Amino acid sequence: MSISSQWKHLLQNYSSSTLEFVGTSIVQFTCFWAVSAFYIALPYIFPAFSARHKLQKQEKQPTQAELWDCFKVVCRNQVFSAFLHISLLKIDTLVGRPPSYRFDDALPSLVEVVRDVAFGILIREILFYYAHRLFHHPSIYPTIHKPHHRFTAPVALAAQYASITEHILANILPISLPLRLTRSHMVTFWVFLTLELLETTTVHSGYDFFAGSARRHDSHHEKFVVNFGTVGILDWVHGTDGKKKEKRVE
Ligand SMILES: [Zn+2]
Ligand SMILES: [Zn+2]
Repeated sequence: MSISSQWKHLLQNYSSSTLEFVGTSIVQFTCFWAVSAFYIALPYIFPAFSARHKLQKQEKQPTQAELWDCFKVVCRNQVFSAFLHISLLKIDTLVGRPPSYRFDDALPSLVEVVRDVAFGILIREILFYYAHRLFHHPSIYPTIHKPHHRFTAPVALAAQYASITEHILANILPISLPLRLTRSHMVTFWVFLTLELLETTTVHSGYDFFAGSARRHDSHHEKFVVNFGTVGILDWVHGTDGKKKEKRVE
């Protein structure tokens, strides 16, 4: 059965809200949990390989107790996200609001996917950068953002180690809002979510894989005052890309 006929089969058998929730949860599980587990397992399975590719020294890596604590906080945040998602879908159904994404019979074209994903990446950069800059304001930092900075040498799972406020404003909103604005196809959102989750786990992984794509965010965790954005455009615009003299504020 082709992907197109599988999609039509799903549309005939399940409601749009069921598809949205289950599909999104499957992407979360595979691209966040499974990928995080892979990165975290590396030092135990291939210690020499892992040590060779870690960006920061072994003594700065989190302990097993810290990893366990991280796991519990991330579980809490994911349960919260799932509860929020189900509640919003229920409200949509109760008030008769159409779904936030399109559930067309036809799958989106490659051009449409590339266009909408590029738009999503740009809007996420804007929303995440300014929320993140705000979180570093001294009056906000201790209560909202300090927990995320507990790991100065981050690991993949720590991508969602955050206070609930930060989780809503920096993790949920910048990813779930952009493709609702364009009312993109549901499948396009899943492609976007896949890329964003792979990006966030990889940049928190602490490894130099994928041409050292983790270096920028890793240095944010290490130095606090550089690299606030996701793709680097606004760090370049605002001069926070680490090329100026750095001043550490904790
Ligand atoms: Zn981070
Ligand atoms: Zn920060």
